[in-house]
Amino acid sequence: MIHIEGVGVTYPSGVQALTDVDLHIAQGEFCFIVGSSGSGKSTLLQLIYRELAPTAGRVIFDGQDVAQLPDAQVPFLRRKIGIVFQDFRLLPEMTIWENVGFALDVLGASRREKHRKVPISLELVSLQDKAQVFPHELSGGEQQRVCIARALVNGPPVLLCDEPTGNLDPDTSWDIVDLLSHISESGTTVMIATHDKYIVDRLRKRVVNLVRGAVVRDDEAGRYDVP
Ligand code: ADP
Ligand code: MG
Repeated sequence: MIHIEGVGVTYPSGVQALTDVDLHIAQGEFCFIVGSSGSGKSTLLQLIYRELAPTAGRVIFDGQDVAQLPDAQVPFLRRKIGIVFQDFRLLPEMTIWENVGFALDVLGASRREKHRKVPISLELVSLQDKAQVFPHELSGGEQQRVCIARALVNGPPVLLCDEPTGNLDPDTSWDIVDLLSHISESGTTVMIATHDKYIVDRLRKRVVNLVRGAVVRDDEAGRYDVP
């Protein structure tokens, strides 16, 4: 599904954020990208949704070279990718239902399609009862579940999460990661960039470790640190 081949990223400032990264993620796989702050995790995810182009190598998503896609094709790439961030980014003036529905508005979905898809997505994250409340009425963990519902409402094959538990306490972090793990079991490819040792060690899934922009470890059923 995602092939990262010999990828390097050097920012215009001269910072080399990624160096010769090779990474292959299969459809339906669940993978943690771990490493300390500044190790290149966010840069790596940004390459996949073409927020950023590699300065060396290539990123192949679903058979297409992401950097070579014509601009007109980028919205179609992004439809295949749900994204969840640390800081939620919900719209405060909109209800939960409207926040999730808005992701479909952006894609030009009909009212009917919204009314079909939004409840399914809210149910997936067990927030159907909170549809009519506003983001500030929810806990951090609930807000992050809304973000997951929003990211998945159009059924993308891939979900990218950048420090999804960065603002949550350990118990809530675990609930979120447990939910993401269930989502991957139903076939969605899930990549989580994190420096949250607790969730990584508890879940024991694939762990790709970045150090100063290089992959130093890629373990099946791994831990945050080398045992
Ligand atoms: P992480 O997500 O693991 O904390 P990042 O991918 O954000 O790491 O950053 C990797 C390196 O690239 C860091 O040295 C960071 O300072 C640098 N960097 C990130 N974004 C930019 C940018 N837009 N311009 C210049 N340097 C950047
Ligand atoms: Mg980051």
